[in-house]
Formats: sequence, structure tokens, C-alpha cells
Amino acid sequence: MAQQEDVFKKLVSHSKEYGFVFQSSEIYDGLSAVYDYGQNGVELKNNIKKYWWDSMVLLHENVVGIDSAIFMHPTIWKASGHVDAFNDPLIDNKDSKKRYRADVLIEDQLAKYDDKITKEVEKAAKRFGESFDEAQFRATNTRVLENQAKREALHERFAKALNDSNLEELRQIIVDEEIVCPISGTKNWTEVRQFNLMFSTEMGSTAEGALKVYLRPETAQGIFVNYLNVQKTGRMKIPFGIAQIGKAFRNEIVARQFIFRMREFEQMEMQFFVRPGEELKWFDQWKQTRLKWHKALGLGDQKYRFHDHDKLAHYANAATDIEFQMPFGFKEVEGIHSRTDFDLSSHEQYSGKKLQYFDPELNKSYVPYVIETSIGVDRMFLSVMAAAYTEEKLENGESRVVLKLPVALAPVKVAVMPLTKKDGMPEKAQEIIDDLKFDVKCQYDEKDSIGKRYRRQDAIGTPFCVTVDHQTLQDNTVTIRHRDTMEQERVAIDQLRSIIVDYVSLRNLLKKIKED
Ligand code: ATP
Repeated sequence: MAQQEDVFKKLVSHSKEYGFVFQSSEIYDGLSAVYDYGQNGVELKNNIKKYWWDSMVLLHENVVGIDSAIFMHPTIWKASGHVDAFNDPLIDNKDSKKRYRADVLIEDQLAKYDDKITKEVEKAAKRFGESFDEAQFRATNTRVLENQAKREALHERFAKALNDSNLEELRQIIVDEEIVCPISGTKNWTEVRQFNLMFSTEMGSTAEGALKVYLRPETAQGIFVNYLNVQKTGRMKIPFGIAQIGKAFRNEIVARQFIFRMREFEQMEMQFFVRPGEELKWFDQWKQTRLKWHKALGLGDQKYRFHDHDKLAHYANAATDIEFQMPFGFKEVEGIHSRTDFDLSSHEQYSGKKLQYFDPELNKSYVPYVIETSIGVDRMFLSVMAAAYTEEKLENGESRVVLKLPVALAPVKVAVMPLTKKDGMPEKAQEIIDDLKFDVKCQYDEKDSIGKRYRRQDAIGTPFCVTVDHQTLQDNTVTIRHRDTMEQERVAIDQLRSIIVDYVSLRNLLKKIKED
């Protein structure tokens, strides 16, 4: 674990050093849980967004996009349930004065039981070697069984407390489990209170005329309130989907772990409108489609898992998370929810407008049911960076840090480098860039030794380095070096475009999603 935390720290400083992510307002000592993306970060982020967007609106003829405003009529948040129920249970430690989410403290405790069990299994696997029967060990070992029983009991109690919104019981669980504050080490806890996560501000110039508005805590509502506009103007037939990418804001109680939990972040959400009664079929289908989208990146299939929800949100009849193995454990990156007709029916009620769809095949009108896929751009960014960050020992004894990013997502696709700054090499390098720059992001670099220049490109994940040398001037060939293998080959300049553009194209990723 300590080693993993170490990797995470390195990742955070690497992100800053190489222009991926900066603390917001850094020269004023920063603003908590708000971050800015630098010159490389913004490219990676844009590529992630394009990958998602194209996978939705290009690969599905029945999915279209919108871009709705951040400000919306305040009654929308009443109808959606956010004014009354978008709360987190918070608890303070009286000694450290630190604030925690009560549910997260208990989830961490559950993870501790899991860790204990995993450790026992690993220890036994080592001891027994080849003949180890894991299933049998799990079913018979007393320590495993004890921890398993404790975990299950805690889990049941926790799920019930959450479902009943029983704040006293949440506190009692923390007390009974003897959970201590990681800072003070004490069990001196306050009561548990509910805290609404929405930011509000005022719209309008005069105090009397001002309207209290919220910064949207999710992009989904912009889709719901526009669903009939899109359906009618786009002549959409159910089932169909609407996709949107945009900023969302949540006044998170505990904002730790870098860009994992931010107060201003970006979401990529898609609402898929279906016939009532068919929602669970579509829920399963979107679960599989979304998992394929993640796996196509090649970050490692074993790094993903589904986590089905125990506590269903007020609007859902099925829900799962896609979790990714971050340096600090498996964490939610994406949520997939079957939201029933909750939102649309509620908007009908609050707005007084009909939001029904006339189904020509069934010859009747109904409020559609909705499957939602909702993924945080920033969390996705973090998972890609975490999986890509690699420290390698080289054969010559040196080491390198390389970001093994999926090539289609890399901020810079090719760096072009003149071996020396003379004999017309810089001009030749520039000529190559002038041809490639219409297709891919290129970078020119002439400073320092070639070795150092390669390292700089490795550190930002550039898949190709092209070097212009003396031979280039004679026969119009260059060396092209591959990031992961560090192998070099000599190719004709007029082949570069097809080699590079084909290799880094998003098309390769999109095609993988469609493979069975
Ligand atoms: P969590 O349980 O981690 O608070 P959530 O279940 O509230 O997340 P959703 O409301 O399902 O999250 O939001 C969908 C997605 O938006 C999440 O899977 C996550 O990727 C992203 N997201 C949510 N809150 C944040 C945040 N504070 N910072 C960054 N991304 C976020």
C-alpha cells in the first residue's frame, strides 16, 4: 500500500512538472479541490472527451448530443430531488476538527475487512504453492470466515442505515466499529448531519429581484428538460439517447485525492430513453457497451470491475459503478443507472407540461424510462494517467519515466527533432511538421542531446519521435522511434504521414468497441 501511495505522489508531481494538471490559483496558495489543466493536460482531456463523444454519437445512429446551460431554472432542482436529497452525511472529529463523510469512513472499514481476507489468502497461496485450492481455503479457514462474517454483518447494518437515512445509526456504527480519526487517532466524534452539496448564487441585479440559482451538480437534468425538444426536432424514435459533456459543481465535504474528487469537474453523460418495462434489458446492454469502451483503451482488463449498488438513489431501480484500480484502490469512475421515469414524471408535475412520447408502434403515449451512463472526465483522466505512468530500468543501467498512454489519447503524437541545429536540419524538421500538423499534434524540439529529448517526450507519452540527421539531407529518410519499445527504424519522409496518422487514429479504439 505504501508503495502505491508513493506512486500516487509521484503521479501528482509528474502531472504538474510536465504541464498536465496545476492546482487552481496556485500563486494564492491554491483553492481546495479545484484544478487547472495545463498544455498537455488539456490535449489529453480533449482526446478523452472526443473518444467518448464519438463512441456515443458516431457509433450509435440513435444517439445525438446537446450542450445545455449550467444555470437552469431553480425549480428543476426541486423536481430532480437535489434540493431535498442531494446530501452527504458528515461527521467531525472533535480533536482534529477534521470533517469526514460518515459513509466513506464505514466503506473504508469494509475495505479493511476485505484487505485482511486478501492477505490471509495471499499468505496461504505462498505457503501451499501449486497445490493451493483458494475456494476451499476461503470456505474453511477460520480467520477468513471470521472476517467474512464481520464484514457481512457490517455491510448489512450499513446498507440498512443508508436506506433508512438513519443518521444516528450511522454514528453508532462508527462507534461500534471503533473507527478512529486518521489524524488525531481518537474516537471523539460529533453527531452525523446532512449537508447539501449544491452551490448556489444569485441571478439578477437587484436584491429584491434576484433569483437563487444553482450551479448544476450534474449535467443530466439539462438533457431531461430538453428531451422533447430533441425528440421532436430530430424526429427521434424510442429507443434513443442524448449525450452531453459539461461542467458540474459539488461542494464536496472531503476533497482529497487530487482530481479524483473535485468541487468543479466535468461529466460525460448520456440518457437513453426506452419503453417502460424494457429498461433492465437496456441497462444490461449499456453496462456491457461501457465496459468495452474502457477496456478498448488497453490499460488492463483486470483493472475494472462492476460494483452493484446496495443503496439505490431515490430515482433508480438498478445501478452499478464501473470501478477502476487506482493507486489508492478500486474506485468509481463511471455510474450506470436505470433511472425509471422518475425525472421526466417529476418535471411533468413541477412544470405542468406534458412530457410524454407517442409511440407509433404501440399506438400510445407514455413517459419513457431512462438508462443513464455518467462518467467523470477528470476521474477518467486520473485513471488513464495512473495506468500509463511507468518507471523503467533500461539495459544500459539508466532509468526512464514513460507515460504509456493509449496512443490515440496522447497529447502530442509526434516530436520532430533535428540532430543538430545546422546544415539545414531544423528547416527539414519544420517542413515535416508543416505537413503533419494538419492531422496530428506535433512538437518541434532541438534543445539538448537526442537522448534527453527522447526522455522529455517519453514523460508526456508521445508515441513517435522522428529524427532528421545527415542521411535525411541526402535521401529524404528519417529515423522514427517508438515510445514503448524504444526501437528505431528508418523510413522515407513521404511514408511518415500514413505510418503515424493511421497508428494514432481514434478509429482504432472505436473499432475495438465494436469487436465481439
Ligand atoms: P462519489 O460516490 O464518488 O461521490 P457519485 O456516485 O456521487 O460519486 P455520480 O453522481 O454517479 O457520482 O456522478 C457520475 C460520475 O461523475 C462519477 O462516476 C464520477 O466519475 C464523476 N464525479 C462525481 N463527483 C465527482 C467529483 N466531485 N469530482 C470528480 N468527478 C466526480
